[in-house]
This record gives sequence, structure tokens and C-alpha cells, in this order.
Amino acid sequence: MTDQSDKPKLGTRPPLGLKRTVETGKVKQSFSHGRSNTVVVEVKKRRILGRPGEAPPPAPAAEAPAPAPAPAPKPAAPAPKPAAPQRRLSEGEEIARRKEEMERFQREAEEARMAALEDARRREDRSKAEQSEDERRRAEENRKAEEEAAKAPAPEASAAETAEPDAPAEAEAGSDEARVHRRPAAAPAHAPKRAEPHRPGHGRVREERRHSGKLTVSRALSGDEGNRARSLAALKRAREKEKRAHQTSGPSAKQYRDVDVPEAITVQELAKRMGERGADLVKALFKMGTPVTITETIDQDTAELLIEEFGHRINRVSESDVDIQTETDVDAPETLKPRPPVVTIMGHVDHGKTSLLDAIRGADVVSGEAGGITQHIGAYQVAMKDKSKVTFLDTPGHEAFTEMRMRGANVTDIVVLVVAADDGLKPQSIEAINHTKAAGVPMIVAINKVDKPEAKPQKIREELLQHEIIVEAMGGDVQDVEVSAKAKTNLDGLIDAINLQAEILELKANPDRAAEATVVEAKLDKGRGPLATVLVQRGTLKVGDVIVVGAASGKVRAMIDDHGRQVKEAGPSAPVEVLGLSAVPHAGDQLTVVENEARAREVATYRQGVLDKKRTTTAPVSLENMFANRASTTIEFPVVVKADVQGSSEAIVSALNKISTDEIRVRVLHSGVGAITESDVTLASSTGAPIIGFNVRPNAKAREAAARTKVEFRYYDVIYHLTDWVRGAMAGELGPEIIENVVGRAKVQEVFPAGKRDKAAGLLVLEGNIRKGLHARLTREDVIVSKTTISSLRRFKDDVAQVTAGLECGVLLADTNDIKAGDNLEVFEVEERARTL
Ligand code: GDP
Repeated sequence: MTDQSDKPKLGTRPPLGLKRTVETGKVKQSFSHGRSNTVVVEVKKRRILGRPGEAPPPAPAAEAPAPAPAPAPKPAAPAPKPAAPQRRLSEGEEIARRKEEMERFQREAEEARMAALEDARRREDRSKAEQSEDERRRAEENRKAEEEAAKAPAPEASAAETAEPDAPAEAEAGSDEARVHRRPAAAPAHAPKRAEPHRPGHGRVREERRHSGKLTVSRALSGDEGNRARSLAALKRAREKEKRAHQTSGPSAKQYRDVDVPEAITVQELAKRMGERGADLVKALFKMGTPVTITETIDQDTAELLIEEFGHRINRVSESDVDIQTETDVDAPETLKPRPPVVTIMGHVDHGKTSLLDAIRGADVVSGEAGGITQHIGAYQVAMKDKSKVTFLDTPGHEAFTEMRMRGANVTDIVVLVVAADDGLKPQSIEAINHTKAAGVPMIVAINKVDKPEAKPQKIREELLQHEIIVEAMGGDVQDVEVSAKAKTNLDGLIDAINLQAEILELKANPDRAAEATVVEAKLDKGRGPLATVLVQRGTLKVGDVIVVGAASGKVRAMIDDHGRQVKEAGPSAPVEVLGLSAVPHAGDQLTVVENEARAREVATYRQGVLDKKRTTTAPVSLENMFANRASTTIEFPVVVKADVQGSSEAIVSALNKISTDEIRVRVLHSGVGAITESDVTLASSTGAPIIGFNVRPNAKAREAAARTKVEFRYYDVIYHLTDWVRGAMAGELGPEIIENVVGRAKVQEVFPAGKRDKAAGLLVLEGNIRKGLHARLTREDVIVSKTTISSLRRFKDDVAQVTAGLECGVLLADTNDIKAGDNLEVFEVEERARTL
């Protein structure tokens, strides 16, 4: 058909010369429609160049083959007859072109691959799909173009007869040129796209090239128009794709972070650390079945799930990491410089502690200079004639000492035990000895009131032996100094002893660092706000420092020393009163200088959280704690024992020690003689121990303290009553023994509704019997489903008290309707047996 239609057409345009001019004219026309002028010019030039070689052979040779190539121009093209010189030329160019094309393809493929690698997997997948679509589309376009090409020659290839063989040559040459020149003109938008390795762009370029390379004729004719239209469309598509890619590059360019998560964190804070929106987190949590608000706190495990959900990585940090780590922050030995010792004076009431403190302070050269003006801030420092300094905590007694210790603050380097030489060791003296020993602090014994005629210092030394305190005068290593606070005798001797002890201890601290200090006293001043007397432990505290004290934070506004003077700095062992705190801290709290206020707030908040937790939870806070407690198989039962005489006290302690078993043992925190004092209460309250008074009573202060701290007092006058109670309390501590006696087993055969809401189980009793009111455990495939009781038991619609093995019955289980046929029911009695030790 086409052959026939072709033939007459071919016949209608016989003259070669004419054909040539017509052809060029046509080309020109079609170009002028939508193409740049340069293209036209270049193509024309080439054509003219090509023509001479092409000119001679054409008409006769082409005439014949024309019909054949017409239907299938492409295969015909490389194939048969055409003029020899012409073909050779086009072949060379063809090879060069293909080579170049292949190289470009390879380059493009490589670029595309690189681009794909850069993309996230999801995007990569998508682009793959796009690519294949692209290819499909290209293939489709090619096919169409080929069809077009096949049709196109019909009217015109008439003349293409010969042009058929030369067409590729010319077109190739022309199009190559055209492409080269056209590309910048026709597709300037491609330039940036090319620079950016992007597949759509390449696809288009490739497409364009294909057309230019293979579809000469069609392009030269109407194809050009179509080509252009396609280019614009492709350009638009490519642009859109690019835009999309940019949009989707949002998530793929997302930053994945290592998120620090403490043991508990608010959703808000977590969102901030993850760089996500809080609302998204709340949504995700809701999907996980944890409906929380943004301000609520979630635990580390939940946080981990969330973090993984968002593709980040968790970095678990212990909550305590937030706190200031002073233990790990150790000063290099070369930075350490000697510091004054910190001394606490302890002893029995009226033995002269206050008098001695005053006397020593009176000896202070600075006070002397300042006209004796002193200020009570809870601690003071005295400078001796030899320029040595000693810091005294001027809260005499054990309370301050034990309270500080309870808070883990061991600020005292040396304890001076004051014993009145006219009185001897008294309960509080012994208590002081125990406390000092427990703290592992060296002791110096000040035998006071030696001015008194009835003073018997030697008797004191002997008494001390009973408490394993061997003074130097007795050949031991505990220094003893005879003094008189009243007569101010041998105070230098005491200071010398302190300095000697300090030397042995080699007390040193680094003064050139951010300060750490301990609160020894704190109060709220109406005019000046919270005030805290602190003892600098290392570093130098300066006005303006940002500090954290316990759960309070602040900035050092001013510092006042023990002489009431404003100071700008306080070095190691110096006591100063600090102004500028946000709240009143507790004695024993640590003061730490931090980098900035944000850090101060962070630490203070963390510590407040810990305090809140302590206050609100009595149960072990973590699983580890629980296991740790279980792991130490013996439970300790702490007590404080006070008795009227030493003999009773000793007898009680030994009786109590005998009660101990493998599971639980008595731990006597302190045993002593005399009334129950505030100090006993402080000691007991730290462990929740009861205080056992044997023929003694607490004093008013102790009662007051006990009411405040909820310490229990037990009074006895018969030892075995006392031990009975302890035994019972210890057994109680272990809790009663719970014994389960299984009385029957049954199988659930069917489940049927009972009443409006309940379900009843039809049982077959397999073993023993079932009785109403007994405890029951429902198991499904050996997994306990519920622990309940038999609330109703029936047999043939009659309530019965008991059903024995082999019989069927119906039961209602209390508080559960989760019953299924096939479940097993184990019925048991529970017996609570009080433990006996
Ligand atoms: P504290 O309860 O341990 O602080 O004892 P104080 O310092 O209040 O002293 C109690 C009593 O003992 C006071 O009346 C003092 O005057 C007296 N006192 C203290 N030291 C001496 C001393 O060295 N010699 C004499 N004779 N009396 C003293």
C-alpha cells in the first residue's frame, strides 16, 4: 500500500537539483517555526558541504531502493546500496558519534549512580521507579518517532530515495552540529540540571540526542515541532521532578542524632534533644499506647522506643550523670597546697566545749587586732602567732557532726574530745568516741578543767583505755592535752597538738580551681535572704561565682567571714557566710561552683527530683536496688540502745546479738548509758532504727526530735521483754510466712453467661475438692491468667458448699470474667503463719 502511494510521489519529483533546493527550503521553513536561527544556518552549511559528494549518485540508485526502506527506514539505513564515498563518511562519523554517545551514556549512568547513592533508600527506590518509567517513556517515544520516521519519508523521502542512504550521514552531521549548538540555545535550563547529577535531566538529554541522532528526517520535517513540544514537556516534567526531589529531600536530609537520655525525661525535653516536634512525639507515644502530655516525664525505655521510631540513636546516661561528679574530678598532686585543719570539739555536756572554743578564739591574733569583734557563723578560723591557721566548727556537740555525716559530709579532719578532769568519761563522751571512730577521724583528747583542785587527769586516761583510746601518756598514739578553758592554760599546747595531727594527715587542697565547699550552717535572714556558712574544701570561692548548693542554685552576691568582714575570696578550709542563694540549704550540703546558671539550674532541678523521689517513695526505686537488697541475704535490724548502767547496756547488746539469724541480724548502731538524747535520735533516724531505753527515758529535746523524725522509742525494764519485742519486730520485718495449701484442681469445660455481666465456668473437678470462698488461680496453657476467689459454687442450680473430685459444678470467680474453656483452676487455702526466730 505504502509502496504504491510512495511510488507516484517519488515519480513526481524527478529532478535532483530541484529536489535539493526544495529540501533545503523545507528545512528552513520548519526550523523557522520554532527553532533558533543558528540551527538552521549550521545545518544548511553541513548540508551544502555534504551535497557535493552526495550529488552524483542519487536519483537512479535511490529510485529503486526507495520503496524498500520506506516502511522500515531504520534497518535500511545502515544496510544496502548507497553511494560508496557517502557511506564511508557516514560510517566514520557514526562510529565516532556512537562512541561519544556511549561515553556520555556511561558518564551519565555513573553520575546517576552517584546521585542515587547519595539519596536515601526510599528516595532511591522511588527514583528507580521513575527511571524505569522514564525508560519506558523514552522507549515509547522512540517507537513513536520511528513510526513517524517511517511515515514521514513517504511524501518527501520520495526524493529521500537516495537521501535515504545519505540522510543519516547528513542528518548525523547536521544533527550533531545542531545538537551541539542547539542544546545551549534550546535547553538552557538543562545546564544547571546537568551540573546537578539528576536522572530526569539525563533522560531528557539522552532522549533529545536519540532524536537528533536517529530521527533526522522526521525532525527535519514535522518531527521538529513535536520534538520541541516534547522537550518543553520533558523540561517541565524534569523541573517538577526536581522540585519533588527537593521536597522529599527534607526527610532524607534529616539529621540523625545521638540523643542523651537520662533515666527520666520530659517529652518536651526529649523532643528538643531529638530535634523533633513535641507534638509528633506525643502522637507517636499515643500510638504506642502511652498517652502522655508534652510536659510529662517518660522513662528511659519508652524514650528509647521513641528515639528508634524517629531513627535516632539513644545514648543512655545515668540520671546521676547530670549531677556534678566530684569524685572523678581529682586534682593533680602538684596542684595541692597545705590547708588548715578543720576541727570539731565534742564532749559531754558541761565539760567545757563552749568555754574551750571561746578561749581558743580569744587567742586568735586576728580577733585581737580587730578588737575582739567576732561573729557567729557556725565556724571560725584562728590564726596563731606562727601564722598557722586552724578552722573550728563552733557548733559543739555531736548533732552537727552526726548530721553532717548523715549527709555524707565529712568536713572534720580532727575531733577534739573534751573531758572534764573532775568528772571523767560520761555517756556523751563515749558517744563522741563512737561517732569519731565510726567516722574514722583522728582524735585529740583535751583534758579540761585541770585548774580545778579535784581534777584527776590520770583517771581520765585510764577510763579511756576501756574504750580502746590509748593516749600518748599511756603509750598509745592518741594525743592528750591538759588544758583549762577557764584559766586559758595550755591552749597553745592544744593548738600544737592539732597542728601536729594536721601535719600527719598532710591536709592539702588545690586552691586554684572552681570551689567546692560544704554547708555547715544555714538560715533564712529576713533582710538578706538565705544565708549559708560554708567551709571551702578545695578551690577558691569568689564573689560572682555561679553555685549549686544541694537542690538550690544561685550566685555568690557577697561573702562575710567570721569577723564580719566582707571578703571577695575564700580559699580551702576558710569558713564564709554566702549570700545569694535561691533557697536555704541543709547543713552538710555540698556547694559547687559551676560554669553557668543553666548548668546550676539543671543540677539543682535534678537534685530536687531526687529529694522528691525520696520523699514520695519508700519502696526500692529501681529493679537493681531491689535485687541488690535481695542479694544481701541478711536483713539488718538496726537499733540504738540506751541503758541506765553500763552492765545492762552490755547485757542487752549481747542478748540482741544472739537473736540474729541467717536471714536477719541485729545491728546495734550505738549503745550507751544515760538518757535518750537528741543525738541518739539523729543517729537512729538516719536508718529508721528504734531506740530502746532500758530504765531510761528521753530528754525533752530528744522527744521533740523523735516526734519530728518519727523515731520509735521502746522502754523496758526486763531484758527478756526487750529481746522478745526485738525478736517479734525482726520477724515482722521479714513478714509473716504465707503458706498455700492446694485443695483441689478443676478444668473449665464451658463458659456461660451469668447475670448481666458475669461469666460462669462449668467445671469438672479433677482432684480434691472445691469450696466456696477459697482462693483460686486460673491458668491457661500453664500461664496464670488471674488470681481470684470462688465467689459462688453451684451444682444443678443449687448453691453448694463443696464439690468433690469427679463431679461437675458451676463457679463464679470474683473480679474476673476472663475464663475460657480449657482453662485450669487450682484452688488453694492460704495460711499466714507468724514467723518465729
Ligand atoms: P559545754 O556544755 O561542754 O559547752 O560546757 P561549757 O563550756 O558551757 O562549760 C560548762 C561549765 O564549766 C561552765 O560553767 C564553765 O565555766 C565551766 N568550765 C569550763 N571550762 C572550765 C575550766 O577549764 N575550768 C573550770 N574550772 N571550769 C570550766
